[in-house]
This record gives sequence, structure tokens and C-alpha cells, in this order.
Amino acid sequence: MRELPAVDRLLREPVLQELAEIMPRRIIVAAAQKTVESYRLSLQQAAAEGGLPGSIDLSPSRLASEAAQEAQKRARPSLGPVINASGTVLHTNLGRAPLAAEAAEAIRSVSEGYSNLEYDLESGQRGSRQAHLEELLCELSGAEAAVVVNNNAAAVFLVLNTIAAGKEVVVSRGELVEIGGSFRIPEVMSASGARLVEVGTTNKTYLRDYEAALNEQTAALLKVHTSNYHIIGFTAAVEAGELASLGHSANIPVIADLGSGVFLDLSRYNLPPEPRVQDAVAAGMDLVTFSGDKLLGGPQAGIIVGRRELVGRIRRNQLARALRVDKFTVASLEATLRLYLDEDTAVQRIPVWRMLTAGGEELQRRASALADRLKQVCGSAGIDVIPGSSRVGGGALPTAELPTFLVALDPPLISPPALAQRLRQGRPPVIVRLHQERLLIDPRTILPEQEEQLIEALARAVRG
Ligand SMILES: *Cc1c(COP(=O)(O)O)cnc(C)c1O
Repeated sequence: MRELPAVDRLLREPVLQELAEIMPRRIIVAAAQKTVESYRLSLQQAAAEGGLPGSIDLSPSRLASEAAQEAQKRARPSLGPVINASGTVLHTNLGRAPLAAEAAEAIRSVSEGYSNLEYDLESGQRGSRQAHLEELLCELSGAEAAVVVNNNAAAVFLVLNTIAAGKEVVVSRGELVEIGGSFRIPEVMSASGARLVEVGTTNKTYLRDYEAALNEQTAALLKVHTSNYHIIGFTAAVEAGELASLGHSANIPVIADLGSGVFLDLSRYNLPPEPRVQDAVAAGMDLVTFSGDKLLGGPQAGIIVGRRELVGRIRRNQLARALRVDKFTVASLEATLRLYLDEDTAVQRIPVWRMLTAGGEELQRRASALADRLKQVCGSAGIDVIPGSSRVGGGALPTAELPTFLVALDPPLISPPALAQRLRQGRPPVIVRLHQERLLIDPRTILPEQEEQLIEALARAVRG
């Protein structure tokens, strides 16, 4: 213990002195403290277990070089870009939807200076940040009014809190969804102050079940899209239109939580059907909520469209302020929504749609080109192109299997899981898929401009 160098002693070592020129001193001090502390702990532990290692290098230069590595790690930004080679398009852990160039540019344009976020340029008076989005959302959805909040979980919470706190909300037992572990309809309901009234059964719920649950305490009927699972077999659910008619005849608002926000007709792209926002509005839903960063392909946001009077009440809720979106979200969501004004433009410009609609021929061509390049740079690794499937992810289209072509890599000298770890720790990190002892790369989710970086990262990782 006495031989363990002090932190001050480490800081005088040349490798740490040099680092002090390029990074804040406090990072280096913290790294040196951590290194000395971890040596102290392992010495103590070894002594307690009765056996100090025969020879252990406690020289200041040795510890300083470890501290330097730690400091370099700490000086790097924690959040940064990764290459998603997994084939899961909406990977929640990888930031869900990659933005269209137009949306990224919109963020940049309002971030470096001032903007008219809440300023009405015509009158010179205070304006609303929602004004930049509402007209577009009404145009695309056919709704009377719209308001955007932090995410769809916040949207559902705010809607329930505004129109049903202290009252009852009727939901089918087949629709009590959990999304990503932290969003569960019963929990959101109770947090909002509304009381959940479950009707029907897991597989079958009829209109008469909803009807029987109505009383003076009923504040809303809620229809939740089962976005991340399907109930198959003997099933019955009530159509949006039927539920809306029931609500209207009883003068009770009907809410739809759609999960993903889809404006496109997915059958045109060989994808399983998803309820579209404009169809839910046309069916008579009074309020419709959906995410900005699932199938919409925009930034994280929760979008609420519906009747003007109800949306007005939601905006006046004190909690709306706590859940409001910032200017980066407004800018990038506006730019994304503008792309939807022309369907072909949306599919071509929004990365999520480009990825979801990529054809077999294109994917095979990209996989083969990638494999050819990898054969040149990855030496003796076994490299094949094989058919496979990609996933939509993000709790959307759970049964969709998107046919793709994968590059399968059998590295020499290292196991596929070890190579996958090496790729994760590279710069930029590369996230791959592992299946049956093979490392798989799916071109579907690799942005074309990342292909060169990917090849370099793989070449480095295979060489070790
Ligand atoms: C994803 C989802 C949510 C939560 O949306 P976030 O934008 O992730 O907060 C809520 N309801 C349904 C049905 C969903 O699919």
C-alpha cells in the first residue's frame, strides 16, 4: 500500500502532463484518482483473501498510462452516432427514427441563433410554438385542431388527465398494452387520475360490453392500438367507427391511441395494415394520439389531433407546459410533416420509409457490394450473402418480416460475439446481429453515407 503512488505523483508523469494540453485538467485528476483508488481496492481485496500477487507493477508510469486511457475515455462525448447494421429499422435503444436531411437541417437552422418559435412575425406579438405544426397536422389528418407534446406516452397521459381525471375511462381487456416496459395503459391511467374500467375479454370485446359500462361517471371511451402484439384465432374487437358512434350517441368523447403515426397506405408497400391517422379521424374519433418517432419517421414527440374544443382544454391544462416540446422538435417535426404533403416525397426522403420500402433487388445488390469490399479488406474471414429478414422494431408492425439479404461473416481467430463486442467499442460503434454463431450485417438499416465507415470499422475489428 505504501508503494502505491499518490495522485499528485501520477499527475507529474509526462503522459498526463501532455494530456493536460488537450483536455480539462479536472478530467485527468478524476481519472488519476479513479486509477489509484481501483489499485487500492484490489490490493486490499487480495490481502483480505490472504494472497498478494507476487509481482505487481505499481510504478507511477504504469498507473499514469492507465489513468491516461481512462481520461481519454472520459473526454469523449457519451452520446454519439452509431452504425445500425442490425436490420431493426426503429431500434428504440438506437434512437428510433433517423431523421430526414430536411429535418436535421431544420434543427440546425434554429439552433445557432434566434427563431420565431413563439413570435408572430405578422403582428409582432407573442405567438404559439404549436402554430408551426397545427395547420400541417390538420391538413394531413383532417382534424380540426392539434397539439404536440414530449412523446406519445405524455400525449395519452395529458388527454386522460384533461378529460377524465376523477372519472371513468372504458377500455377493452384486449387492449391493455405495455410498450417498452414503462408505458402500461393501467399505470398511465391511474397516474392521470382517471379510473380504468375494463370491458370484454382478452380475445373478444363487443360493442355491447362498452355500452353496458356507461354511466354518469364515464368520461371517455379509449381504443388502444395493439401496436406491438397481435391476438389471433377467435377474436372480436370493435371498429373505430362503431365505437365513435356509441360515444357520440351517449355524448362521451372517444379517444384513439394509435401508437405509430401512419399517414401512408401500407398495403401499397406490401406491409401489414396499420390504422392511419386520417382514417381514425374520419371514423369519428374525437381525439387521436400517436408518436413522432415511430412509423412517422420524425423526432420524438407525442401528437394529439382532434376536436377543437377538446384540444383547447388539453392546451390549457397546466401539465401541458411541463410536457411541451422544444424548438428542435418543432423544427424537425414541421420539416418531416411537410414531406408528407406529397406521398412519394415522403417515401423517398424519410429514412424510415426508404428503409421499410427498400426492394429485394436493391438489398441484394447492396449486400453483394458490401461482401465484395469486405472480402478485399477482411483477409481470411468467411463472407457470404444469405437471404434473411429485417424487423420494423419500435413496437410497430410486430409480425412484419421484411425479406432482406444479409452479409454473414465468419471471422478467423475470434468468435462472432467477441467481434461484435469489438465493433460496439470501435469508433464509430457498429451494432450487428448475431445468429447461430454467425455475425450478420443487414444493409437495410445502414445509411448509404455510412458504408465506407462500416467497411473500415469491420476491417479494423477483424484485424484486431
Ligand atoms: C409506442 C406507444 C406508446 C408510447 O409512445 P412513445 O412515443 O414511445 O412515448 C403509447 N401507446 C402505444 C399504443 C404505443 O404503441
